Amino acid sequence: MKISRITVWQKDLPLREPYRLSGGRLTFEALDSTLLRIDTDEGLAGWGEGCPWGHSYLPAHGPGLRAALAILAPALIGEDPSRIDALNRAMDLILPGHPYAKAPLDIALWDILGRKAGLPLSALFGGAEGAGVPANSSISTGSAEEMTARIADYRASGYRTHSAKVGGAAPEVEIARIEAIEAARRPDELVTYDVNRAWTPGLAVEVMNAVSAKGWFEQPCETLDQCAQVQRRTRQPLLLDECLQSLPDHLEAWKRGACEGVKVKPNRVGGLTRARQVRDFGLAVGWRMHIEDVGGTVIADTAALHLALSTPEENRMGSWLCQAHLRDDPAPGAGARLRDGRITLPEAPGLGVTPDESFLGDPVAVYA
Ligand code: MG
Repeated sequence: MKISRITVWQKDLPLREPYRLSGGRLTFEALDSTLLRIDTDEGLAGWGEGCPWGHSYLPAHGPGLRAALAILAPALIGEDPSRIDALNRAMDLILPGHPYAKAPLDIALWDILGRKAGLPLSALFGGAEGAGVPANSSISTGSAEEMTARIADYRASGYRTHSAKVGGAAPEVEIARIEAIEAARRPDELVTYDVNRAWTPGLAVEVMNAVSAKGWFEQPCETLDQCAQVQRRTRQPLLLDECLQSLPDHLEAWKRGACEGVKVKPNRVGGLTRARQVRDFGLAVGWRMHIEDVGGTVIADTAALHLALSTPEENRMGSWLCQAHLRDDPAPGAGARLRDGRITLPEAPGLGVTPDESFLGDPVAVYA
Protein backbone atom coordinates (compact mmCIF):
# COMPACT_ATOMS: atom_id res chain seq x y z
CA MET A 1 0.00 0.00 0.00
CA LYS A 2 1.30 3.45 -0.91
CA ILE A 3 0.22 6.99 -0.09
CA SER A 4 -1.21 8.44 -3.30
CA ARG A 5 -2.62 11.83 -2.27
CA ILE A 6 -2.89 14.21 0.70
CA THR A 7 -5.74 16.72 0.66
CA VAL A 8 -5.79 19.66 3.09
CA TRP A 9 -8.70 21.83 4.25
CA GLN A 10 -8.67 24.97 6.43
CA LYS A 11 -11.66 25.63 8.64
CA ASP A 12 -12.39 28.54 11.00
CA LEU A 13 -14.13 27.22 14.09
CA PRO A 14 -16.07 29.94 15.95
CA LEU A 15 -16.32 29.41 19.71
CA ARG A 16 -19.79 29.46 21.30
CA GLU A 17 -18.56 32.29 23.52
CA PRO A 18 -15.24 34.14 23.87
CA TYR A 19 -12.76 32.19 26.00
CA ARG A 20 -10.16 33.70 28.33
CA LEU A 21 -7.00 32.05 29.64
CA SER A 22 -4.16 33.07 31.90
CA GLY A 23 -6.16 35.72 33.73
CA GLY A 24 -7.46 37.20 30.48
CA ARG A 25 -3.99 37.84 29.04
CA LEU A 26 -5.06 35.49 26.24
CA THR A 27 -8.53 35.72 24.67
CA PHE A 28 -9.96 33.60 21.86
CA GLU A 29 -13.08 33.88 19.68
CA ALA A 30 -12.37 31.31 16.96
CA LEU A 31 -9.85 28.57 16.22
CA ASP A 32 -8.02 28.02 12.92
CA SER A 33 -8.14 24.29 12.20
CA THR A 34 -6.47 22.22 9.48
CA LEU A 35 -8.03 18.90 8.50
CA LEU A 36 -6.47 16.49 6.06
CA ARG A 37 -7.11 13.19 4.37
CA ILE A 38 -4.38 10.76 3.29
CA ASP A 39 -5.50 8.56 0.38
CA THR A 40 -3.79 5.32 -0.63
CA ASP A 41 -3.52 3.34 -3.85
CA GLU A 42 -5.64 0.58 -2.22
CA GLY A 43 -8.61 2.85 -1.58
CA LEU A 44 -8.11 3.10 2.19
CA ALA A 45 -8.02 6.67 3.53
CA GLY A 46 -7.24 8.22 6.91
CA TRP A 47 -8.17 11.55 8.50
CA GLY A 48 -6.23 13.86 10.77
CA GLU A 49 -6.65 17.30 12.29
CA GLY A 50 -4.26 19.89 13.68
CA CYS A 51 -5.76 22.82 15.57
CA PRO A 52 -3.51 25.03 17.72
CA TRP A 53 -5.50 26.97 20.33
CA GLY A 54 -5.24 30.30 18.50
CA HIS A 55 -1.84 31.91 17.85
CA SER A 56 -0.87 32.75 21.42
CA TYR A 57 -1.33 29.59 23.51
CA LEU A 58 1.68 27.63 22.21
CA PRO A 59 4.47 28.29 19.67
CA ALA A 60 2.10 26.96 17.00
CA HIS A 61 -0.43 28.53 14.62
CA GLY A 62 -2.68 27.48 11.76
CA PRO A 63 -0.88 29.30 8.90
CA GLY A 64 2.43 27.86 10.14
CA LEU A 65 0.97 24.38 10.20
CA ARG A 66 -0.17 24.62 6.57
CA ALA A 67 3.17 26.12 5.47
CA ALA A 68 4.94 23.16 7.09
CA LEU A 69 2.58 20.72 5.37
CA ALA A 70 3.78 22.08 2.01
CA ILE A 71 7.22 20.70 2.95
CA LEU A 72 6.12 17.53 4.77
CA ALA A 73 3.25 16.19 2.67
CA PRO A 74 5.09 15.82 -0.68
CA ALA A 75 7.76 13.72 1.09
CA LEU A 76 5.13 11.16 2.14
CA ILE A 77 3.70 10.57 -1.33
CA GLY A 78 4.60 7.06 -2.56
CA GLU A 79 5.54 5.84 0.95
CA ASP A 80 3.97 2.90 2.81
CA PRO A 81 1.58 4.47 5.38
CA SER A 82 1.97 1.56 7.81
CA ARG A 83 5.65 2.47 8.45
CA ILE A 84 4.57 5.14 10.91
CA ASP A 85 7.80 5.37 12.95
CA ALA A 86 9.93 5.58 9.79
CA LEU A 87 7.69 8.31 8.37
CA ASN A 88 7.96 10.28 11.63
CA ARG A 89 11.76 10.02 11.42
CA ALA A 90 11.63 11.15 7.79
CA MET A 91 9.50 14.16 8.75
CA ASP A 92 11.95 15.06 11.54
CA LEU A 93 14.83 14.90 9.06
CA ILE A 94 13.33 17.22 6.46
CA LEU A 95 11.78 19.65 8.98
CA PRO A 96 13.16 19.53 12.54
CA GLY A 97 10.78 20.71 15.24
CA HIS A 98 7.27 21.96 14.35
CA PRO A 99 5.60 19.01 16.14
CA TYR A 100 2.13 20.57 15.75
CA ALA A 101 2.44 20.41 11.95
CA LYS A 102 3.31 16.71 11.98
CA ALA A 103 0.42 15.76 14.26
CA PRO A 104 -2.41 15.69 11.67
CA LEU A 105 -0.32 13.57 9.28
CA ASP A 106 0.61 11.14 12.05
CA ILE A 107 -3.03 10.85 13.18
CA ALA A 108 -4.15 10.09 9.60
CA LEU A 109 -1.46 7.37 9.31
CA TRP A 110 -2.80 5.74 12.50
CA ASP A 111 -6.35 5.99 11.11
CA ILE A 112 -5.25 4.09 7.98
CA LEU A 113 -3.46 1.43 10.07
CA GLY A 114 -6.54 0.92 12.25
CA ARG A 115 -8.82 0.66 9.22
CA LYS A 116 -6.48 -1.84 7.61
CA ALA A 117 -6.27 -3.90 10.82
CA GLY A 118 -10.04 -3.69 11.38
CA LEU A 119 -9.45 -2.38 14.92
CA PRO A 120 -10.21 0.88 16.74
CA LEU A 121 -7.12 2.92 17.65
CA SER A 122 -7.68 2.25 21.37
CA ALA A 123 -6.99 -1.45 20.63
CA LEU A 124 -3.72 -0.57 18.87
CA PHE A 125 -2.66 1.59 21.84
CA GLY A 126 -3.06 -1.23 24.38
CA GLY A 127 -6.78 -1.90 24.61
CA ALA A 128 -9.76 -0.11 26.16
CA GLU A 129 -9.64 0.34 29.95
CA GLY A 130 -13.05 0.77 31.54
CA ALA A 131 -16.30 1.92 29.98
CA GLY A 132 -15.50 5.35 28.60
CA VAL A 133 -13.42 8.21 30.00
CA PRO A 134 -14.54 10.83 32.55
CA ALA A 135 -15.06 14.26 30.98
CA ASN A 136 -12.94 17.28 31.99
CA SER A 137 -14.51 20.73 31.69
CA SER A 138 -12.56 23.88 30.78
CA ILE A 139 -13.71 26.90 32.78
CA SER A 140 -12.73 30.27 31.25
CA THR A 141 -11.15 32.83 33.61
CA GLY A 142 -13.72 35.08 35.27
CA SER A 143 -15.05 36.24 38.61
CA ALA A 144 -15.69 33.65 41.32
CA GLU A 145 -19.43 33.90 40.62
CA GLU A 146 -18.98 33.42 36.85
CA MET A 147 -16.66 30.46 37.32
CA THR A 148 -18.81 28.64 39.90
CA ALA A 149 -21.85 29.17 37.62
CA ARG A 150 -19.97 27.65 34.66
CA ILE A 151 -18.90 24.68 36.77
CA ALA A 152 -22.54 24.17 37.78
CA ASP A 153 -23.56 24.15 34.09
CA TYR A 154 -20.97 21.46 33.30
CA ARG A 155 -22.00 19.50 36.43
CA ALA A 156 -25.58 19.44 35.10
CA SER A 157 -24.36 17.74 31.90
CA GLY A 158 -22.46 15.05 33.81
CA TYR A 159 -18.97 16.50 34.28
CA ARG A 160 -17.26 15.74 37.62
CA THR A 161 -13.71 16.85 36.67
CA HIS A 162 -13.09 20.54 36.05
CA SER A 163 -10.18 22.68 34.87
CA ALA A 164 -10.61 26.18 36.32
CA LYS A 165 -8.48 28.78 34.52
CA VAL A 166 -7.00 31.21 37.06
CA GLY A 167 -4.06 33.65 37.11
CA GLY A 168 -3.63 37.28 36.12
CA ALA A 169 -5.02 38.83 39.31
CA ALA A 170 -3.67 40.17 42.62
CA PRO A 171 -2.87 37.47 45.21
CA GLU A 172 -5.87 38.30 47.38
CA VAL A 173 -8.18 38.02 44.35
CA GLU A 174 -6.64 34.68 43.32
CA ILE A 175 -6.97 33.31 46.85
CA ALA A 176 -10.61 34.45 47.21
CA ARG A 177 -11.55 33.03 43.80
CA ILE A 178 -9.99 29.63 44.51
CA GLU A 179 -11.62 29.48 47.97
CA ALA A 180 -15.03 30.26 46.42
CA ILE A 181 -14.65 27.46 43.87
CA GLU A 182 -13.48 25.06 46.60
CA ALA A 183 -16.51 25.98 48.73
CA ALA A 184 -18.85 25.15 45.84
CA ARG A 185 -17.01 21.94 44.87
CA ARG A 186 -18.95 18.73 45.52
CA PRO A 187 -17.20 15.85 47.34
CA ASP A 188 -17.20 13.71 44.19
CA GLU A 189 -15.63 16.43 42.05
CA LEU A 190 -12.00 17.16 41.15
CA VAL A 191 -11.01 20.75 40.29
CA THR A 192 -7.58 21.49 38.82
CA TYR A 193 -6.51 25.14 38.98
CA ASP A 194 -4.83 25.81 35.63
CA VAL A 195 -2.73 28.97 35.73
CA ASN A 196 -1.53 28.75 32.12
CA ARG A 197 1.90 30.15 33.18
CA ALA A 198 0.48 33.47 34.46
CA TRP A 199 2.22 33.48 37.88
CA THR A 200 5.78 34.26 38.88
CA PRO A 201 7.24 31.56 41.15
CA GLY A 202 6.89 33.85 44.16
CA LEU A 203 3.21 34.52 43.47
CA ALA A 204 2.56 30.80 42.92
CA VAL A 205 4.17 29.89 46.26
CA GLU A 206 2.26 32.68 48.02
CA VAL A 207 -1.17 31.70 46.62
CA MET A 208 -0.78 27.93 46.79
CA ASN A 209 0.44 28.00 50.39
CA ALA A 210 -2.44 30.29 51.41
CA VAL A 211 -5.42 28.39 49.95
CA SER A 212 -7.23 25.41 51.49
CA ALA A 213 -7.25 23.51 48.15
CA LYS A 214 -5.21 20.32 48.40
CA GLY A 215 -5.85 19.22 44.81
CA TRP A 216 -3.94 19.81 41.61
CA PHE A 217 -2.49 23.02 40.20
CA GLU A 218 -1.35 23.21 36.59
CA GLN A 219 1.48 25.03 34.81
CA PRO A 220 1.75 27.88 37.34
CA CYS A 221 4.75 29.53 35.64
CA GLU A 222 6.32 29.89 32.20
CA THR A 223 9.28 27.52 32.39
CA LEU A 224 10.07 24.04 33.68
CA ASP A 225 12.75 25.54 36.00
CA GLN A 226 10.22 27.89 37.56
CA CYS A 227 7.57 25.16 37.96
CA ALA A 228 10.12 22.81 39.57
CA GLN A 229 10.96 25.55 42.08
CA VAL A 230 7.25 25.99 42.89
CA GLN A 231 6.76 22.22 43.32
CA ARG A 232 9.58 22.11 45.88
CA ARG A 233 7.92 24.83 47.98
CA THR A 234 4.24 23.81 47.86
CA ARG A 235 2.20 20.84 49.08
CA GLN A 236 -0.23 20.51 46.16
CA PRO A 237 0.67 18.19 43.25
CA LEU A 238 1.51 19.97 39.99
CA LEU A 239 0.48 19.05 36.47
CA LEU A 240 2.64 20.41 33.65
CA ASP A 241 1.36 21.28 30.20
CA GLU A 242 2.69 24.08 27.97
CA CYS A 243 6.39 23.79 28.96
CA LEU A 244 6.65 20.16 27.76
CA GLN A 245 7.09 19.94 23.98
CA SER A 246 8.99 16.67 23.54
CA LEU A 247 9.68 13.34 25.26
CA PRO A 248 13.08 14.61 26.55
CA ASP A 249 11.21 17.53 28.21
CA HIS A 250 9.11 14.96 30.08
CA LEU A 251 12.23 13.04 31.16
CA GLU A 252 13.66 16.29 32.50
CA ALA A 253 10.45 17.09 34.40
CA TRP A 254 10.59 13.65 36.03
CA LYS A 255 14.29 13.93 36.92
CA ARG A 256 13.69 17.29 38.61
CA GLY A 257 10.60 16.12 40.51
CA ALA A 258 8.77 19.04 38.90
CA CYS A 259 5.31 17.46 38.75
CA GLU A 260 3.13 14.49 39.66
CA GLY A 261 1.35 14.44 36.31
CA VAL A 262 1.11 15.95 32.83
CA LYS A 263 -1.30 16.91 30.09
CA VAL A 264 -0.77 14.65 27.07
CA LYS A 265 -1.84 16.46 23.89
CA PRO A 266 -1.05 14.97 20.46
CA ASN A 267 -0.94 18.37 18.72
CA ARG A 268 1.57 19.74 21.25
CA VAL A 269 4.03 16.83 21.04
CA GLY A 270 3.72 15.82 17.35
CA GLY A 271 0.84 13.37 16.99
CA LEU A 272 -0.35 10.05 18.38
CA THR A 273 3.04 8.31 17.97
CA ARG A 274 4.77 10.82 20.25
CA ALA A 275 1.80 11.21 22.58
CA ARG A 276 1.77 7.46 23.09
CA GLN A 277 5.49 7.51 23.98
CA VAL A 278 4.79 10.24 26.55
CA ARG A 279 1.77 8.34 27.89
CA ASP A 280 3.83 5.16 28.26
CA PHE A 281 6.65 7.06 30.00
CA GLY A 282 4.02 8.54 32.32
CA LEU A 283 2.79 5.03 33.13
CA ALA A 284 6.36 3.90 33.86
CA VAL A 285 6.87 6.66 36.44
CA GLY A 286 3.34 6.59 37.83
CA TRP A 287 2.13 9.99 36.64
CA ARG A 288 -1.52 10.92 36.44
CA MET A 289 -2.50 12.32 33.06
CA HIS A 290 -5.18 14.30 31.33
CA ILE A 291 -5.14 13.01 27.74
CA GLU A 292 -6.91 15.32 25.27
CA ASP A 293 -5.91 17.53 22.35
CA VAL A 294 -5.04 21.21 22.16
CA GLY A 295 -8.16 22.03 20.13
CA GLY A 296 -10.20 21.04 17.13
CA THR A 297 -13.36 19.28 16.09
CA VAL A 298 -14.55 15.79 16.95
CA ILE A 299 -11.74 14.45 14.70
CA ALA A 300 -8.98 15.74 17.02
CA ASP A 301 -11.06 14.92 20.11
CA THR A 302 -11.54 11.32 18.98
CA ALA A 303 -7.86 10.74 18.15
CA ALA A 304 -6.77 11.86 21.63
CA LEU A 305 -9.59 9.96 23.35
CA HIS A 306 -8.51 6.64 21.83
CA LEU A 307 -5.20 7.14 23.68
CA ALA A 308 -7.05 8.16 26.86
CA LEU A 309 -9.35 5.14 26.71
CA SER A 310 -6.36 2.77 26.47
CA THR A 311 -4.73 4.29 29.59
CA PRO A 312 -5.28 2.58 32.99
CA GLU A 313 -7.95 4.34 35.03
CA GLU A 314 -5.62 4.98 38.00
CA ASN A 315 -3.31 6.97 35.71
CA ARG A 316 -5.85 8.93 33.73
CA MET A 317 -7.80 11.92 34.90
CA GLY A 318 -10.68 13.39 32.90
CA SER A 319 -10.41 14.28 29.22
CA TRP A 320 -11.60 17.58 27.75
CA LEU A 321 -13.66 17.73 24.55
CA CYS A 322 -13.02 20.86 22.48
CA GLN A 323 -16.31 20.15 20.65
CA ALA A 324 -18.16 21.48 23.74
CA HIS A 325 -16.84 24.99 22.91
CA LEU A 326 -17.55 25.00 19.15
CA ARG A 327 -20.59 26.21 17.23
CA ASP A 328 -20.06 23.83 14.30
CA ASP A 329 -19.62 20.07 14.03
CA PRO A 330 -18.30 18.18 10.98
CA ALA A 331 -19.72 14.79 12.07
CA PRO A 332 -22.78 15.28 14.31
CA GLY A 333 -23.30 12.41 16.75
CA ALA A 334 -20.22 10.49 15.57
CA GLY A 335 -16.82 9.94 17.20
CA ALA A 336 -15.96 10.65 20.85
CA ARG A 337 -19.07 11.97 22.59
CA LEU A 338 -20.22 12.65 26.13
CA ARG A 339 -22.97 10.22 27.10
CA ASP A 340 -24.32 9.91 30.67
CA GLY A 341 -21.31 11.67 32.16
CA ARG A 342 -18.63 9.68 30.35
CA ILE A 343 -16.98 10.03 26.96
CA THR A 344 -17.55 6.97 24.80
CA LEU A 345 -15.81 6.06 21.57
CA PRO A 346 -16.79 4.31 18.36
CA GLU A 347 -15.69 0.68 18.00
CA ALA A 348 -15.36 1.04 14.23
CA PRO A 349 -11.82 0.60 12.83
CA GLY A 350 -9.32 3.45 13.03
CA LEU A 351 -10.57 6.74 14.41
CA GLY A 352 -14.12 5.57 13.75
CA VAL A 353 -15.27 8.98 12.55
CA THR A 354 -15.14 10.73 9.17
CA PRO A 355 -15.98 14.42 8.61
CA ASP A 356 -18.73 15.48 6.23
CA GLU A 357 -16.79 16.96 3.29
CA SER A 358 -19.59 19.41 2.51
CA PHE A 359 -18.82 20.96 5.93
CA LEU A 360 -15.18 21.42 4.90
CA GLY A 361 -15.73 23.20 1.58
CA ASP A 362 -12.95 23.38 -1.03
CA PRO A 363 -9.48 22.09 -0.13
CA VAL A 364 -6.65 24.61 0.25
CA ALA A 365 -3.98 22.19 -1.00
CA VAL A 366 -3.68 18.81 -2.69
CA TYR A 367 -0.37 16.93 -2.76
CA ALA A 368 -0.08 13.96 -5.13
MG1 MG B 1 -3.43 23.51 30.72
